[in-house]
Amino acid sequence: MEGQNDASSAPRCIGCGSLVRMLYVQYSPGNIRLMKCEKCKAVADPYIECEFMIILIDLILHKVEAYRHLLFNMLYLDSDAYKGILQSSVLAYIFLDAYKISFLNGGALDSSDSLLSAIWCWAKILTGALVEDLVFMLFILMGSKFVLNFSYNIERYREVILAIIISSYLKLFLLSTMVWESPLSVIHIVNIFVLSSNIVALRVVTQSQIGWCVGICCLAHVAKILINHWLLQLL
Ligand SMILES: [Zn+2]
Repeated sequence: MEGQNDASSAPRCIGCGSLVRMLYVQYSPGNIRLMKCEKCKAVADPYIECEFMIILIDLILHKVEAYRHLLFNMLYLDSDAYKGILQSSVLAYIFLDAYKISFLNGGALDSSDSLLSAIWCWAKILTGALVEDLVFMLFILMGSKFVLNFSYNIERYREVILAIIISSYLKLFLLSTMVWESPLSVIHIVNIFVLSSNIVALRVVTQSQIGWCVGICCLAHVAKILINHWLLQLL
């Protein structure tokens, strides 16, 4: 049994980023042979045999190889799993930004608020999160189009959106503020980690120079922060 599939979702060598025909050959359950990359002659994706915790540590360490494994070899653009992951990731991304706005706004809700005013408050917060995420993603996509010279190919833009959203997994640390009382600086620390993770993911998925990816991601994050400040004044 072959480890991978056709050219439309062809996997890549995590070392050099080249397309490879397959990642492994499975002879029987638990008995696989990892394939080598024809270009660099190294094993195409050794992470296939690694525990998830090792992959997660390498992602946190911002290793390009771990991001290639996650973005190219674990997620397939034309699979049902991809659509499910994209939809749920987008919802989680917006929810976490809404939670961040609420946190920065000092909790937003008062225990004496009526149900109606609580719903109205959360509707405003969710709308705010949606607006800042749309502006952020617009900057990323415009940067990809005009700075990285992307051709009009919807699949490539979907790759970029997924890469940015998936690489923002560090936002999940915001949920710890629900359990432990945390200073506002937690938000800034998480933002810095998300920014650096987005830069690595954009570099991997576009295979562009790091300088351009830093510029695009920094600009998009600055736009998001400005929108966030503006929204906090309206709430
Ligand atoms: Zn290679």
